[in-house]
Amino acid sequence: MTNISPQPGIMQIELYQGGAAHVDGVANVVKLSSNENPFGPSEEAKTAFRRASYELHRYPSTDHQALRQAIGAVHGVEADRVICGVGSDEIIAFLCQAYAGPGAEVIHTEHGFAMYRISALANGATPVEVPERERVTDVDAILSACTAATRLVFIANPNNPTGTMIGEGELARLADGLPDHVLLVIDGAYAEYVEGYDGGASLVEARDNVVMTRTFSKLYGLGGLRVGWGYGPAHVIDVLNRIRGPFNLSHAAQVAAEAAVRDTAWAEKCRDDNTRLRSWLAEALAGHGVVSDTSMANFILARFADRTEAEACDDYLKSQGLIVRRVGGYNLPQCLRITVGDESACRRVAHAVGQFMGSGR
Ligand SMILES: *Cc1c(COP(=O)(O)O)cnc(C)c1O
Repeated sequence: MTNISPQPGIMQIELYQGGAAHVDGVANVVKLSSNENPFGPSEEAKTAFRRASYELHRYPSTDHQALRQAIGAVHGVEADRVICGVGSDEIIAFLCQAYAGPGAEVIHTEHGFAMYRISALANGATPVEVPERERVTDVDAILSACTAATRLVFIANPNNPTGTMIGEGELARLADGLPDHVLLVIDGAYAEYVEGYDGGASLVEARDNVVMTRTFSKLYGLGGLRVGWGYGPAHVIDVLNRIRGPFNLSHAAQVAAEAAVRDTAWAEKCRDDNTRLRSWLAEALAGHGVVSDTSMANFILARFADRTEAEACDDYLKSQGLIVRRVGGYNLPQCLRITVGDESACRRVAHAVGQFMGSGR
């Protein structure tokens, strides 16, 4: 017997479930469970990554200057107020570490991304779940959940796994309505999929209490490299840089991400294909009686009659080599989240869902 025990909160963390990638005994499987880009990253990013193999003995840049400048130039943000992390997950972790400890409350929404709760608990803070309105972020519910102990509010816009988003007026109303001891974090993991949306950057610029997080894991197709970034007021970026490890991003990750962000033609092609295939898939599923909210991201949240039907459909899709995501852990047991794949994957999903729904179960 020892007296060794972890910090409070840590044993309440349920392990993050990644999207499955294999089905035993089924060949020709398509993975549509992790919102990955079906076309992969830009060729330029792959070339930069290969070149980086000649520099593996060198420590990477500690200040990520070249990458931050590329992000600044392409996304129209100030490079000095960008911080890069090992995925945006690391930026979320820095925010919780810096601003939320024991006694602090961290607000996330009913169907919000799992990492907000995990990071809050990892730092001894209390996650507070706020209802959404029909699977859409409810600004008034968030504002009325704020207390003297609230330190952080996390919303993803568009949200995962719902795919819905709120407009810039609502975002501004949320930022304006928060008590002055609360920092608003707008997670823009899917912002690049929304034409004309800046992910919350202009709100960051206009205010002192808003941070935006972004990632290279979705539209840029670099989930395997682990690169994300945050944009915030100088006082927040200064705080986060103090806890960031000096060598958090490898050289290979930095140069591949820089090449990826500069290849705007590839990004645009991926966004346009996603928009087209997403509406095709949503309509095809609706034609089989499976509805979904209008998604602004690279996945669709398919709604079934109940948990039993959703899980039976998931089992059928699996038997057909199609791996999608159950979202019971996000309070949506009657739904399946389906990543928009390439055209052939979308056709396979639509066909299989049609067979399942028409099979007279
Ligand atoms: C995928 C995703 C992320 C990105 O995580 P990374 O650590 O950058 O790979 C962040 N937030 C949401 C809502 C996501 O869906």
